[in-house]
Amino acid sequence: MSTVRPRIDVEAQPFWDAAARRELVYQQCQTCGATQSYPRHRCMICHGTALGWKPSSRRGKIHSFTVVHRAPSDAFRSRVPYVLALVALEGFRLLVNLPEDRPEEAAIGRDIEIVFVNAGGMWLPQGKLL
Ligand SMILES: [Zn+2]
Repeated sequence: MSTVRPRIDVEAQPFWDAAARRELVYQQCQTCGATQSYPRHRCMICHGTALGWKPSSRRGKIHSFTVVHRAPSDAFRSRVPYVLALVALEGFRLLVNLPEDRPEEAAIGRDIEIVFVNAGGMWLPQGKLL
């Protein structure tokens, strides 16, 4: 597994705390009800700051995807080709790798489960075809 780690800012800390428990959460605006991911300080619809966190079912569908053939860094060189998918969940989308699935098996609309993989002590969300 890669040693590449995401930078965690104050808005995203609850997301990564949940990931450490192998739970997927997303933000929902307490004012207008809009959902969003990645985590932000303000609602992207009404710009309100009253944001709560909701648990996700971790089940979604591939909204779009690409197959990565050229590694973006040495950390990913041994993994190519791999699928990078935008997964539609409960009102939000999450960009994840599908490291265990063959690229030719990916398709828009396929069912996905979000799972967590430990990388250097950090739990990272990844997609898995169902
Ligand atoms: Zn809002």
